[in-house]
Amino acid sequence: MSDTDPRSRRVVVPGVRWLRFPRRLEAEYREFQCQEAVEGFRVNAFYILLLYILLITGIYALAPEAVRGRWLATYIWVGVIVLAAGGMAQIRALDRYFPLYAGIGSFLAVALSMAIPGFLDGTVAIQLAHVSVIYALVIVYAMVGLRFPVAMLACWGGGLVGWLVAEAVGQGVDWQMAHRTYTGVSLLGMFLCYTSEVRERLLFFNQRQLLRQQQRTQALAQRLHRLSREDSLTALANRRFFDEALDREWRRCQRDGQPLTVMLVDVDYFKDYNDHYGHLKGDQCLQLLAGELRRYSRRGGDLVARFGGEEFVMLYPGSDESEAEQLASRLCRSVRSLAIPHALNPQAGEVTVSVGAAVMTPGKGGTAEQLLDAADRALYQAKQGGRDNWRLYKPQPRVRLVKDDKGG
Ligand code: GH3
Ligand code: MG
Ligand code: MG
Repeated sequence: MSDTDPRSRRVVVPGVRWLRFPRRLEAEYREFQCQEAVEGFRVNAFYILLLYILLITGIYALAPEAVRGRWLATYIWVGVIVLAAGGMAQIRALDRYFPLYAGIGSFLAVALSMAIPGFLDGTVAIQLAHVSVIYALVIVYAMVGLRFPVAMLACWGGGLVGWLVAEAVGQGVDWQMAHRTYTGVSLLGMFLCYTSEVRERLLFFNQRQLLRQQQRTQALAQRLHRLSREDSLTALANRRFFDEALDREWRRCQRDGQPLTVMLVDVDYFKDYNDHYGHLKGDQCLQLLAGELRRYSRRGGDLVARFGGEEFVMLYPGSDESEAEQLASRLCRSVRSLAIPHALNPQAGEVTVSVGAAVMTPGKGGTAEQLLDAADRALYQAKQGGRDNWRLYKPQPRVRLVKDDKGG
């Protein structure tokens, strides 16, 4: 079978011809079908009642006077059943009992319609009463919204009971007439009800598949999106995400006339840490530090990211120099408070970090790259200053060379 062969694209739906999906799917379908049916019936009950009134007034007008009273007295109960079921359908708390009450109502309506001709005299009256059996069956199979087996049970079961009652109490059933009405319409109704349920099930299955596919694609897209922004070791934002954020926040601060702080955080003697404790321990150490640094992202635009290797970078839109100084010194202290042993850190004996901070107000000259570069220089100064400390980059005032009196 080639790929283009339409048969190869046919979806095999398990159990649809037998009107029974595999267990879990079947339960889902029944819940869905019940809800659809009851919502349909809330409206359909009104039309069914209208049909019933049309039928009853029509037959009442045509029926011989002698039987009118008796016919009306019995047939009125069909109307009561429709009214009761229609009323129950308006109560949402009863929604899940819909197949039960609509099934029982249909059963009784068919039984009544089937029994009534057995209690009437005169060919015309009996013929007219048989017409109402047709109505009852068409309504139950096509308008109530019962599943095929329930509709079938209501119609055949109701018919059987109606017949038995007519035989036992009334004058029996005229089968020539009953076959043309009850049996014929029952078979036709079954066929229509069955094919419509098969169609409904196929539709349900396809919609569900589509929904699943959509959910799967969405989840995958979300995962990909997250992966493209996240550092896999520390679960912090990655360098790419940081670059985008820096660009965005730079422009935002430029618009708002706000300062922007960047801090570079570098682990001290980390090569020695790896050499001494092994790379795996080194990874764990980076994860611990990332967890601590993450706490330093406080406001909406704040960002803590892994810059690469054992370096992290932090972005604080709206933070000025004094805030930057506070943050940097708190950061050094809180890394110390983790007390991660580092035998080859000559000063501390624990893992420490050096922090380089820089602050710029984007509207006042400079670029985002220069801000990052300034933070890097501050970090270098912090390293030079003995590590486990921080520096805030201060642009050096330009030195003007003034000629002395001697012209030197
Ligand atoms: P300094 O105090 O000057 O920063 O010294 P340092 O040893 O930290 O600096 P250097 O840049 O020489 O070493 C960085 C080390 O970080 C080198 C590398 O082994 C280690 N490193 C980088 N990325 C990772 C990582 O993902 N996992 C681990 N375990 N180590 C890493
Ligand atoms: Mg480094
Ligand atoms: Mg380092």
